[in-house]
Amino acid sequence: MGGKRRRAREVGDPEAGIRCNLPALDYVPSLKEALGYEEARCLNVRSDGKLIMQLKAGDDILIVPSDPDLPIFIDELLLWKARISRIVKEPGTEQRWLIVQWYYSPADFQKLKAPDSGEKDFGERELIFSTSMDVISWETVEAGASITVFNEEDWDCEDIPENGFYCRGVWDDVKRRWLKKRPAATCVSIAAQPKVSQVLTYRQICRRRYKLHEDGLMYYCARPGCCKWYHDGCLERSKAVESSLMEIELELNWEMSLDLDDKHCDLADSIPHAPLRPRSKGRAPDPYSFIPTELLELARQPIIRGGAYGTTGNAAVLLRARVIVDRVARHGEELLEDWTEHVWQKETPATASLSTADHEANDKSMHVDRGRDEHLIRSTKKIERQPIPEFAHRVNEKGWEIAYKCPGCGKVI
Ligand SMILES: [Zn+2]
Ligand SMILES: [Zn+2]
Repeated sequence: MGGKRRRAREVGDPEAGIRCNLPALDYVPSLKEALGYEEARCLNVRSDGKLIMQLKAGDDILIVPSDPDLPIFIDELLLWKARISRIVKEPGTEQRWLIVQWYYSPADFQKLKAPDSGEKDFGERELIFSTSMDVISWETVEAGASITVFNEEDWDCEDIPENGFYCRGVWDDVKRRWLKKRPAATCVSIAAQPKVSQVLTYRQICRRRYKLHEDGLMYYCARPGCCKWYHDGCLERSKAVESSLMEIELELNWEMSLDLDDKHCDLADSIPHAPLRPRSKGRAPDPYSFIPTELLELARQPIIRGGAYGTTGNAAVLLRARVIVDRVARHGEELLEDWTEHVWQKETPATASLSTADHEANDKSMHVDRGRDEHLIRSTKKIERQPIPEFAHRVNEKGWEIAYKCPGCGKVI
């Protein structure tokens, strides 16, 4: 790669895409040369004297490719993506150059035949950050790019809009190894000693990674030893459907699905404990009488992501509601007065998309992953979590409540 074309500042055809037939530059310094140049703080790009873009180190950018085989107008997906590592001044001239670190598109990454990267394993808008660097002309920069670090393990990861790019793996081009591996496949049946019927029933499970915008709805089993997501289509095809329980039985199954010893212990620790309820004389009152309906409804519904639930889903809110209900219903704690805050508010995200502050946090979290920086700066400002769609029970043609069953443990999810 290398941006060797001079950018003609013309707007692309809105119907056909971005104009990419830029005349070639005859000279671009080598990476070694450019790394020796003095660094510039930022670069202001002007058109007819008007400032149209300010570039600085750490910015993600869209770059017009220098591939001669491309049509004149191309789609945004075909633009190259990179992060500006450094802006440098060519000595004795006014010329500035950008040293960039590339993001691979899934198509380009497939060509590397890297381990652990199956052909159908990447979302269309997924990118792989790499250690590969190049010098490019600032004139090939089309615009800033919104590239979000997506961390599947983070229940509060920012939602990735349908038109946004995301990145969850970092590849070392020199050593040909993952510096940050992408998360393991979801939708995997793990029954270690399955009953014969389970083997037969759950053969439709796809064993793929989560493709954020392509996968549709996924359901989560939050029980210890499971903690996995499954596609609704895979659950449907493998007939993992529960239709013999009453509504309240389904709801209790959802309410009590939690892994407090392992997967959800950090989330639970982030919620303060309330004091124990004073012992009452005589028969103890029903602990559920202390829990508001609104909170119970949140704890008693399936954890879903995708579609209307967004790429992150409702897990953060529902798991918090389950933790609080568990403490009141089974551990004798009082209800936290500010339970709504603990369920619905979060600290400002470390991985968001557009604003400068978020972008810096984003950059830092990437560096943490790469072992460069130990300190992730977190703000303590609280913001509202995204609202979640209202849940409605499903019934089958005979009028029975239905829900999905986990292919791992066989219980309601
Ligand atoms: Zn699946
Ligand atoms: Zn399970």
